Amino acid sequence: MATQHYIEGKDVTEWASMAKLKAGRLLRSVPDACLQYWGGMGYTWDNPVSRLYRDGRLASIGGGADEVMLGIISKHMHTLPAHR
Ligand SMILES: Cc1cc2nc3c(=O)[nH]c(=O)nc-3n(C[C@H](O)[C@H](O)[C@H](O)COP(=O)(O)OP(=O)(O)OC[C@H]3O[C@@H](n4cnc5c(N)ncnc54)[C@H](O)[C@@H]3O)c2cc1C
Repeated sequence: MATQHYIEGKDVTEWASMAKLKAGRLLRSVPDACLQYWGGMGYTWDNPVSRLYRDGRLASIGGGADEVMLGIISKHMHTLPAHR
């Protein structure tokens, strides 16, 4: 849907922010579940899951933190209180 809108030349700021927010949250929850599955082994640096757990965390910070994405989405949905 976002790609189609982009191709049509529409503003996809809201869609892109939603996609980034969702991707960041997935990159937190999936490695977390994987690490839990591996138990203590997943927690050690020798295990690639441990690396993924740390590296995936950046997605919710870099290029605009999750909170920034939420701010952009809220602004586009006109759900922020009006500034006076
Ligand atoms: C490994 C790595 C590589 C990087 N590479 C690049 C790069 O190649 N190019 C580049 O330009 N930058 C790069 N960065 C910088 C990255 O883009 C910033 O770290 C990111 O934008 C977040 O800014 P910050 O670290 O100053 O955190 P801050 O902006 O200080 O955010 C810290 C926390 O404050 C809160 N917060 C911040 N703003 C708001 C808000 N408006 N509303 C509500 N809460 C808020 C959030 O909880 C957020 O997580 C990189 C960072 C890292 C760690």
